[in-house]
Amino acid sequence: MKQYYLQTKDEVLKEFKTSIAGLSTKQAEENLAKYGKNALVEGKKKTAFQVFLEQFKDLMVIILITAAVISAFTGDLESTLVIIAVLILNAILGTVQHVKAEKSLESLKSLSSPSAKVLRNGEKIEIDSKDVVPGDIMLLEAGDMVTADGRILDNYSLQVNESSLTGESTNIDKADVDFDHEIPLGDRLNMVYSSSLVTYGRANVLVTGTGMNTEIGKIASLMNETKERRTPLQVSLDKFSSKLSTVILIICAIVLGLQIWRGQPIMDALLFAVALAVAAIPEALSSIVTIVQAMGTQKMAKENAIIKNLAAVESLGSVSVICSDKTGTLTQNKMTVEDIYIGGEVLKPEQLDLGNQLHRYLLYDAVLNNDSSLKDGKSIGDPTESALLEMYRKVPGIDLGNNQLGLSESDLRGLLTRQQEVPFDSDRKLMSTKHLIHTVPTIFVKGAIDVLLDRCDNIRIGDEVRPLTDEDRKKILAQNEHFSENGLRVLTFAYKEKDEDLTPETEHGFTFIGLVSEMDPPREESVEAVARAKKAGIRTVMITGDHKVTAAAIAKKIGIFNDGDIAVTGLELDKMSDEELEQKIEKISVYARVSPENKIRIVNAWQKKDKIVSMTGDGVNDAPALKKADIGVAMGITGTEVSKDAASMILADDNFATIIKQLPMAVPFLKISKTQSCTYFLVTCLRSSLYFLPQLVVSQYHLSQFNFCLSTW
Ligand code: ADP
Ligand code: MG
Repeated sequence: MKQYYLQTKDEVLKEFKTSIAGLSTKQAEENLAKYGKNALVEGKKKTAFQVFLEQFKDLMVIILITAAVISAFTGDLESTLVIIAVLILNAILGTVQHVKAEKSLESLKSLSSPSAKVLRNGEKIEIDSKDVVPGDIMLLEAGDMVTADGRILDNYSLQVNESSLTGESTNIDKADVDFDHEIPLGDRLNMVYSSSLVTYGRANVLVTGTGMNTEIGKIASLMNETKERRTPLQVSLDKFSSKLSTVILIICAIVLGLQIWRGQPIMDALLFAVALAVAAIPEALSSIVTIVQAMGTQKMAKENAIIKNLAAVESLGSVSVICSDKTGTLTQNKMTVEDIYIGGEVLKPEQLDLGNQLHRYLLYDAVLNNDSSLKDGKSIGDPTESALLEMYRKVPGIDLGNNQLGLSESDLRGLLTRQQEVPFDSDRKLMSTKHLIHTVPTIFVKGAIDVLLDRCDNIRIGDEVRPLTDEDRKKILAQNEHFSENGLRVLTFAYKEKDEDLTPETEHGFTFIGLVSEMDPPREESVEAVARAKKAGIRTVMITGDHKVTAAAIAKKIGIFNDGDIAVTGLELDKMSDEELEQKIEKISVYARVSPENKIRIVNAWQKKDKIVSMTGDGVNDAPALKKADIGVAMGITGTEVSKDAASMILADDNFATIIKQLPMAVPFLKISKTQSCTYFLVTCLRSSLYFLPQLVVSQYHLSQFNFCLSTW
């Protein structure tokens, strides 16, 4: 394999005949044909024939085979043929069951396969990770799973976790440096490797290896050996089967003893007892359950709930508290900018004026400090940011392809390129970017008001910049309160003109521009779903990074926040002792401005009360809480790959109501459902009759045996 980390960026670009604008559709197709799909080849699967052969490994079956051979020698050819026929039928039944169970598990896996963002024909598109080819320019950002190996071209504070590859659990800062001598995998800072997770920042990467040609591909054969874990239900069924088997064997032994005592030929008596045992021992019980469960989860998948492991359904059936995200899960996540507070007035987007310098700063901030993009009415990226682009397009005079005064957002981004950035994360609740505006180095920032207002020293009104007074602060906070009470999500905008290195440490000393409020209406189904959960004795709790007043206003609308309930912020939670939290937890129905660490504490507190907790999450930092919860639920649309990786269930439609819809489905998984017991009973009957039938046919003598057998039972 070529060592791409030793090459310069230009050398690798040349090697793959690509450019920073990415491949063309045609090139991509050619490369796909040349290198194949970007997927790991599964370890050698057992063929159906191998599975079939395995059915004969069973002890009872071996005894029967021996019996058949003995029968053949004693001249009882009829018996031999019948036993063989029965054994083959039995093996076919077992094989069909096995193959079916395997297929169902397979299709479950493919439902949760990741996607990747690449540049093709110079445009950013999202594709199935299987279609990524060497030569592609892959765009990575916090929360993504790296789905191919690649050389970093542009690095913006990219941090990745490569633990699945190297076992090293700390996050690694990547860099676009060149190396001139060989170094171990973990030190190759200019490369990213398939299966690692992006925990921070972003980067543009040239894909150098896909599928089995990746580092993880090399060790894939090792990974394939890890077995599917059995669910608690399967384990308890296996135990039950083995107990039952012992009882059956004892009965068979007694039957055998009785037959011999009654003077039957030993061979006949033995055959009969073994046939009885083979028929009655429920070795297929847990595989039947797997099939029924897998069929159940496929039905759930059709209803947008993708189950990643079967054990999850069992915990879902006994869940008692659901901690749900607000944005996108309980609400529609169709953000639209409502009102803008700027220069002391409240305006609609249509009332913004390109000729006004202050308004222009707000618009620059909205478009440049933004990773989202709109194409044909569809948005790629964070809906909070997409709403800002839609706001920009509503401003009179913006060029939407009709040669107007104002630049289109992509032209604006092309002209005032981003020089540095500190990406948004839900701990800081801020995002800043640095640009050169008419030769003046300018830093734009947007974020939550409680974080950003304290970092503003000045305010801009019209063309005047002056110190921010307490009076101003009061006014701004009052306006924020007003927006929040109406359930609006508020973003604060600010900037500073300063030529300094942009880092989280320098994010202060800003000049306040204004507030933008966004509306995110509750999903219609949420109200009913919360009510249904309540009826089933399940408590719904809202968890959000949003402002407390906004969150409580929405929670009230949905029916989560009732009289006597309390709402707390992450800060208030930090100040509470564990005992205090335990006392209050039953009353708290809204957690606002929470950090990912808060989420873990909430799960812990509920679990201490012996509750089965479900927690939803979408961000990179939500992974630990998702793992800690009894059932971690990730968002299929807005969720990061990291969160999907940690979750045991994925909501394909991001909808809270989908969790509730699955509850009646999930409950039967706890016990052996009716279908399961019926299937088992039928299969046992079928197999028993298979064994008894020949006995009946072969001779009248056997019939009397059968009668005798019934009477001994
Ligand atoms: P949630 O998704 O649960 O509402 P987030 O952590 O995404 O919580 O957002 C918390 C706060 O951070 C929001 O209320 C908003 O003020 C701010 N915020 C959200 N997204 C962005 C962003 N892309 N850039 C800057 N600030 C943001
Ligand atoms: Mg969010």
